[in-house]
Amino acid sequence: MSAIPANATTTDPAQTAITRGYGAHSSTGPLGPMDITRRALLADDVAIDILFCGVCHSDIHMVRGEWGNQAYPMVPGHEFVGRVSAVGAAVTRLAVGDFAGVGCMVDSCGACENCMAGLEQYCTTGATLTYASPDTRGPGQTQGGYSERVVVRERFVVKVPPVDDLAAIAPLLCSGVTTFSPMQHWRLGSGQRFAVIGLGGLGHMALKLAVSRGAFATVFTTSPAKEKDALAMGAKDVIVWHPAATDPIPLTHELVNRFDLVLSTVPFPFDVSPFLPLVRQDGVFVNVGAPGALGGVTGAGLWNQRRSLVGSCIGGMPETQEVVDYCVAHNIRPQIELIKPHQINEAYARVENREVRYRYVIDMGSGHGG
Ligand code: NAP
Ligand code: ZN
Repeated sequence: MSAIPANATTTDPAQTAITRGYGAHSSTGPLGPMDITRRALLADDVAIDILFCGVCHSDIHMVRGEWGNQAYPMVPGHEFVGRVSAVGAAVTRLAVGDFAGVGCMVDSCGACENCMAGLEQYCTTGATLTYASPDTRGPGQTQGGYSERVVVRERFVVKVPPVDDLAAIAPLLCSGVTTFSPMQHWRLGSGQRFAVIGLGGLGHMALKLAVSRGAFATVFTTSPAKEKDALAMGAKDVIVWHPAATDPIPLTHELVNRFDLVLSTVPFPFDVSPFLPLVRQDGVFVNVGAPGALGGVTGAGLWNQRRSLVGSCIGGMPETQEVVDYCVAHNIRPQIELIKPHQINEAYARVENREVRYRYVIDMGSGHGG
């Protein structure tokens, strides 16, 4: 537990705190409880007692070393909310007792053109990720939100309005902003045709956000069992596709040149060639899923209809605040399954098996193991 009193407004800069986390010691072992050290507060730091943390598929990729070799121990978690327990002397936006949220980044240079534009995720010197990054403000590497307490620079903390379903706010900090950002940038609007590939944590948020903007939404899923849920969330069509088949999607005349924006949340490299013909004139195919190779891209597939194939990475801090405020104002929430920390390994397996409905959120505030 934290060594800093919950009602502190400033802290002794020499004082670090041991915090209980839940993480991995290697890419092959299970996650388990471990103690981690949180740095003492700097003047512009905020300490947060974490209450709820979402489980993103990126956590699984990272823990398993699927995105390259990692340093361990690693405590994942980059979409979490909690209550501010202490603030440094220079903090102005947050006060002790406020609800606060943290997403995928905890620091950046603040001086490059992207940081100046509020696009810290594209910091030209590289943003500090919430976990598994060298800590620019303290010793060792950053450790994430599967833990009881965190210390984060104020700029990277979102203010969460008082709500009575705080657990459902946590996923907005990653899956919410990652799907909101491309809709903002490419201006998905009312009456436009939108498609999402993959109805998981990101995909179902994308569906809800697109519907809230008045778009006609189509879901491409590999899981026929998700059709009913997709329709209930506002999808106009659900199309079951088969990535390994010779004809992965049933390509009908109505689907060709149909969509203004296609968003892929597929977590692994795949062949995009069946989807490119579905993008309409000047439309975009946005990949937020797999960071690896996207196969099947041809020059003609793009110059035909002047299509764009693009990517998008989370969102900047202003946009992260915006998506939280937008979802609170419009009563948009992810569909979550609440778990205890000791259930995390089982939850990972269920995400990998496409069984989660639709985002696991770990209850970090009610004690471990229960
Ligand atoms: P998720 O909950 O596992 O959802 C992914 C969905 O994709 C699954 O539910 C499944 O939907 C479909 N899918 C899974 N494996 C597939 C395969 N081999 N082929 C085709 N479809 C497959 O994952 P998530 O948390 O939403 O994350 C999705 C991806 O986005 C991950 O790779 C994650 O690392 C990445 N991500 C990127 C950013 C960014 O900034 N760009 C931010 C966060 C996450 P159906 O059952 O409906 O087919
Ligand atoms: Zn994430």
